[in-house]
Amino acid sequence: MIHIAIDGPAGSGKSTIAKKVANKLNIKYLDSGALYRIIGYFFKEKKNTLDENTIKETLDKLSISLKDDFYIVNGEKIDKQIRTANSGNYASTVAKIPEVREKVNLILRNISEKMSTVIDGRDIGTVVLPNAEYKFFLTASAEERAKRRFNELIEKGEDVNYNLILKEIKERDFNDTTRNIAPLKCAKDAIEIDTTSKNIDDVLKEILNYIDG
Ligand code: C5P
Repeated sequence: MIHIAIDGPAGSGKSTIAKKVANKLNIKYLDSGALYRIIGYFFKEKKNTLDENTIKETLDKLSISLKDDFYIVNGEKIDKQIRTANSGNYASTVAKIPEVREKVNLILRNISEKMSTVIDGRDIGTVVLPNAEYKFFLTASAEERAKRRFNELIEKGEDVNYNLILKEIKERDFNDTTRNIAPLKCAKDAIEIDTTSKNIDDVLKEILNYIDG
């Protein structure tokens, strides 16, 4: 079995790259951010609260499992609902709760015990799988990441504002890097790749070269 951690800030391209690496190596891709998004979405949209104590008290009732490429939450397939900017912000809020992080980490570790995985997130190389064979940390300037998000949303036909996206990216970076628990940072033994002036294929090649030795 091999385990590959791909961490980085919002918009660094880590999920696109992680999916492609998993595909090339024919191993399971796990999106850890999706789990925080699911928990944020569930409490905010279904329970109308992001109150820390309420979340801690009722977290056990939330059943999350993986079926093929989707997470099933209390029996319901969750997918597009969690891909909104709001869900990203809810995720960032619940990600500060230690019990939430424990739940997410347990899900990721249980799956990784049974099979090879590529996981993308913020703390995979530092906390979730500190013994992963390969660790990568992708970065890019905030402006470049905002540009990528902007283009992605324009392609989907959404009406978006670049400056607002840049502001949200900077806010999320601030939240993720300054929180007390599992802050976003590059693991000591991770390979850091600045993707600002690279395209997806260049980064994919670079990562696969490291893995192939
Ligand atoms: O990667 P994505 O944008 O889907 O993540 C949403 C939020 O979930 C992040 O901004 C971060 O606050 C949180 N997160 C985290 N640890 C991870 C993955 C995501 O704290 N491993």
